[in-house]
Amino acid sequence: MEELAKIKEELQNAKAELNILYEISNAMRTTLKLDEVLYIILTGVTAHTGLGFNRAALFLVNEKEGIIEGRLGIGPGNAEEANRIWGQIEQEKMDMEDLIGAHKFSNEATESNFNRQVQRLRTPLKEQNGGLLSLGVFEGMPLHLTRETIQNYRHDPIVQLLNSEELAIAPLKAKDKVKGIILADNLITKKPITKDDIHMLIMLGNQAGLAIENSQLYENALIRSHTDSLTDLWNHGYFQYLLQIEMEKAKATASPLSLISLDIDDFKIYNDTLGHQAGDQILKKMAQLLKNQSRKMDYVCRYGGEEFAFILPNTDKKEALMIAERLRLDIEKYNFTKEEMLPNKKLTASLGLACYPQDGSTPSELIAYSDKTLYIAKHKGKNTTCYETDSA
Ligand code: GH3
Ligand code: MG
Ligand code: MG
Repeated sequence: MEELAKIKEELQNAKAELNILYEISNAMRTTLKLDEVLYIILTGVTAHTGLGFNRAALFLVNEKEGIIEGRLGIGPGNAEEANRIWGQIEQEKMDMEDLIGAHKFSNEATESNFNRQVQRLRTPLKEQNGGLLSLGVFEGMPLHLTRETIQNYRHDPIVQLLNSEELAIAPLKAKDKVKGIILADNLITKKPITKDDIHMLIMLGNQAGLAIENSQLYENALIRSHTDSLTDLWNHGYFQYLLQIEMEKAKATASPLSLISLDIDDFKIYNDTLGHQAGDQILKKMAQLLKNQSRKMDYVCRYGGEEFAFILPNTDKKEALMIAERLRLDIEKYNFTKEEMLPNKKLTASLGLACYPQDGSTPSELIAYSDKTLYIAKHKGKNTTCYETDSA
């Protein structure tokens, strides 16, 4: 009889666990936005109605940069904060869906100190570096660091960051690939981590890895559809979208906004003499140079053909003029292949400026104004920046 009761309890536990996983994977399917997927995963790990850990952090492999980087950390910073948050959840009888929904209306979780610390942590993706993050990714195995074994890692950046006494680590797997890892602990309640907890974390990690991969594939496809394939810059369609958005932001915050149009001088001569492929190589090189020489906050776009456009948020005419002149000189200085065949023996470009608010207050007014200033720059003899239409 006792045996039967035990089996019954185990069955009930298994059913409850399956329910939790079912609920979390359903929630993950509601979005393809990576940030939202990550938030849902960690809400699942930390919610009382989920896996019930006190805190959780998520790290993703960034293959392009060869690093593992902190993406999100959820959990209270101290006991006081924990009581306040958990009390509220209890009082409002919030289930998983409520908790995920609550995030959409408040940034409390992502603005926490803990999250900022997690997001600052990045380590090189090297098998031999022996750190916990690399270990988790290369081994692709779950780890349970107990009060005893965690001592061996007390200098590890992860253990230093979390300050945990006991820690569970599970890989985020998509097919055979490890996309990242989840870490979870019970810093506040000090509740021991059980075999069942680890088991649940592993199963969640497998589901979550697939959800992360899906959303990365989606986001990459989205970026590709906004990118010009020859130059890797934003394409014409996305330029129009960005200018619209940045114009709205500039108006809402009463900030300036500048647009620079750039057109290569005498490119037809280069192209007609050396061929279209040689011309394409110049466009590629030019795009690289423009991207490298512009600020992180600026959008560098291929407007069409051999014409480029820069959207400079929060930048007034004086600053935009300085930036435009610097770009013009960088191009003049650069040694492009076979540029000696051009009339001026150098490949150069002409630039036209337009700035909100003085030169226009809609995207199309700004574009029209920068068309005019670019035209004037060409008429003044090329390799020039022009910033006003009444200076001709
Ligand atoms: P200007 O100094 O007045 O700008 O003279 P330009 O010859 O550069 O100007 P125009 O607009 O008359 O000619 C642009 C030329 O750029 C036409 C074409 O030969 C070349 N071009 C445009 N798009 C591409 C492209 O995608 N690839 C290549 N290779 N050439 C292009
Ligand atoms: Mg042109
Ligand atoms: Mg041209």
